[in-house]
Amino acid sequence: MQPKPNIVHLPVYQPGKPVEDVKRELGLTEVIKLASNENPYGCSPKAKEAIARELENMSIYPDGAAVELTNALAKHHAVNPDQVIFGAGSDEIILMICRAFLQPGDETVMADQTFPQYKHNVTIENGKSIEVPLKEGTHDLYSMLERVNEKTKIVWICNPNNPTGTINTADEVEWFLSKVPGHVLVVLDEAYCEYVDDPSFPDGLKLLQKYPNVILLRTFSKIYGLASLRIGYGIGRPDVIRSINQVREPFNTSRMGQAAALAALQDEAFISFCREENRKGIAFLNRAFEELGLKAFPAHGNFIMVDVQRPGQDVFEALLRKGVIVRAGHQRYPTSVRITVCSQEQNEKVIAALTAVLQEIA
Ligand code: PMP
Repeated sequence: MQPKPNIVHLPVYQPGKPVEDVKRELGLTEVIKLASNENPYGCSPKAKEAIARELENMSIYPDGAAVELTNALAKHHAVNPDQVIFGAGSDEIILMICRAFLQPGDETVMADQTFPQYKHNVTIENGKSIEVPLKEGTHDLYSMLERVNEKTKIVWICNPNNPTGTINTADEVEWFLSKVPGHVLVVLDEAYCEYVDDPSFPDGLKLLQKYPNVILLRTFSKIYGLASLRIGYGIGRPDVIRSINQVREPFNTSRMGQAAALAALQDEAFISFCREENRKGIAFLNRAFEELGLKAFPAHGNFIMVDVQRPGQDVFEALLRKGVIVRAGHQRYPTSVRITVCSQEQNEKVIAALTAVLQEIA
């Protein structure tokens, strides 16, 4: 049996190491996972109550079109329900966009380095990924525009960018949108936008009103703390959303996911709390990195990319032995690690572990 030639060399996704595996393998009782940008405060208690209520209905298929959640979310963002689509995480929206819009040989433009699922799904559809180096950690939109041509179907802009955590400003993104041809779908992946408090950050919904070739990607996995329930969404022009709907699996989001997201959306207090704690966490970590003589990219999401001035993989492994799981292995940033911002207590433990590790690997 032969798989499609374009997937033969495709890597299998490597998630951050699970906490339980590390505990077992290293005989540790406490392990902190800061590798997947999860919410250290869990999710809203209202979402937990909604999940408990749904336990009664496990034998019944979910509403594939997620009508109630769609209506609530449309109202929340002041858009029409036909502009909204849900996926099993925004990962699935990325997959569906590629499935709906790419033919073999089509080109898509993205940053190097950015969220790997864009290239992954483009490759599966036999498309071509044009990767444009980041400039000081942010998308070089000028150079990206230069790579757009008649074969370009999609441009991916990850804002804040994963793994660097940096942002492109409203002026930069708007400049790009005003220049890029209207036939190109511009994906603005805003998985971490709820954390951003920089006033220069673009309002994606406003951009969408002015530039209808934009689709926004958002998720309930990060600030809403529902990563395991796999709920992400796209907001775009009705015909774009319809095309994505046409390739959607019939029941792609679960009952529990829909119910939890609906409840989580109402709990503004939880979101404000998480945003505020994250802000304090970034300030604490930045101060600590400075004291350690390390340089970090300006962080706007719930993670920080810091240059540890040693092979990132070595630092990753040494931290792992101390029960701290971070992310290394970033091709363009071999001496950096990406660390999720956690609670104050956990952040302090991470800095203590990192301080020790930096002395070990001088
Ligand atoms: N986009 C970005 C930039 C991400 O970092 C992530 C999660 N790592 C996703 C999309 C996908 O998130 P989810 O599928 O959990 O919604």
